[in-house]
Amino acid sequence: MKTLVMKFGGTSMGSAEAIGRCAEIVRAARAEWPRVAVVVSAMSGVTDALLKGATTAAVGDSVTYQTLVSELRERHTAALAGLADDQATASGRTVVRDCLDEFFSLCHAVRVLGEASPRALDAISSLGERMSIHLIAMRLNAVGVRAKAVDAADFVVTDSVFLAANPQMDATKSKSDALVKPLLDDGIVPVITGFIGADASGAVTTLGRGGSDFSAAIVGVVLGADEVWIWTDVDGVMTADPRVVKDARSLEALTYREVAELAYYGAKVLHPKTIRPVIEIGSILRIKNTFNPTHPGTRIVADEDGTSGTVKAVTAIKSLSLITVEGRGMIGVPGVAARTFGATARTHTSVLMISQASSEQSICFLVPSASAERVVAAIEQEFALELARRDIDKVWSWPEVVIVTVVGAGMQHTPGIAGRVFSALGAAGINVIAIAQGSSECSISLVVDAKDADQAVRELHKLTG
Ligand code: ASP
Ligand code: MG
Repeated sequence: MKTLVMKFGGTSMGSAEAIGRCAEIVRAARAEWPRVAVVVSAMSGVTDALLKGATTAAVGDSVTYQTLVSELRERHTAALAGLADDQATASGRTVVRDCLDEFFSLCHAVRVLGEASPRALDAISSLGERMSIHLIAMRLNAVGVRAKAVDAADFVVTDSVFLAANPQMDATKSKSDALVKPLLDDGIVPVITGFIGADASGAVTTLGRGGSDFSAAIVGVVLGADEVWIWTDVDGVMTADPRVVKDARSLEALTYREVAELAYYGAKVLHPKTIRPVIEIGSILRIKNTFNPTHPGTRIVADEDGTSGTVKAVTAIKSLSLITVEGRGMIGVPGVAARTFGATARTHTSVLMISQASSEQSICFLVPSASAERVVAAIEQEFALELARRDIDKVWSWPEVVIVTVVGAGMQHTPGIAGRVFSALGAAGINVIAIAQGSSECSISLVVDAKDADQAVRELHKLTG
């Protein structure tokens, strides 16, 4: 019998109205799919709020998490109202109260200890999904679809890497066979918490921020699903941000590698790990729009034949700074790059793109603007001696640059794409500050000044299609 897994994200769960829309989508799908499992995120903003409670508690603040308890209670109670009959609503309220009590005591413990360990952060941030599953399960039952809330901590088995846990598929499969499959056999829709799992000792783990897409893929694989639909609020994956490019279109299909590249370069399409579990199974993933459910959305495929479409999509990552370490004394000196990135890593900054001129007189790389000052200071400290000796002339940052990336697996087989990219920008008078091509040859990234970013995206979008 055919099985469908559907995942609803935070915005789809954002209000009673939105939850009602999701329930309607599930009800409609049930007409065609005998077996449907649902995976959900926390209501939008809830995971952020929970984590804020934890981090403020860790520095001794006992007020913020208390305020958050009331805010979160209010949000969930408001969403509950009108979803189902009084009795179901009352039991929903009990679940919310219990979860928020737990949030309170965990934050209290964090405050007393003066530290939020990764393990504590996972226990705390898991609570959003633990509340949201009940909202949608309640609504489904109210509209005549038998549904049951299921905590993924009871069957998604992971390692103990808190904050970024990895699923253990065999153990997860056998637990799911015992817990989730029987529900499907009985015609019940399991409503499963995205984002979370538990390690072998039973401690709650999370798969990383945005991880409920990943959860949907894991659930899809262990249930042997025929399709996994990720619901969002646009018609699948677009060729560019429609707010920047008026004639941006939705893509019919996208390969795994293109999705990975897009995810890395700032388009919040899918959590990058999502595709890992499904890659061997074939094309079962699809991205669809809750506001336009009959639109087919975008299919995520293993490989596409005839990828002559070349440039598929254009994305931009904003608010970055270009850090340059420059000096003639660097030529041929080993260890400069290692020390530069060592110093950067000590500031806990992740580096988005690196390039070094072959003359070895400079290294430049991109970091989020918010960290630029810290990174420059750390590098200056690391090279204090070399700066004093003038082996390194200066370390500086170019504020507010943007990485614009063109993505398309077909570029690999098509010569001249890079040339067309640069001609397009040249003709528009846009200055390119730095360039990188991923080794997969499935994307080209350029750094431009923030003021040119939107126009660069528009010019490059003309190469799509
Ligand atoms: N609620 C989690 C987060 O905000 C997981 C998700 O939404 O995918 O990161
Ligand atoms: Mg998401």
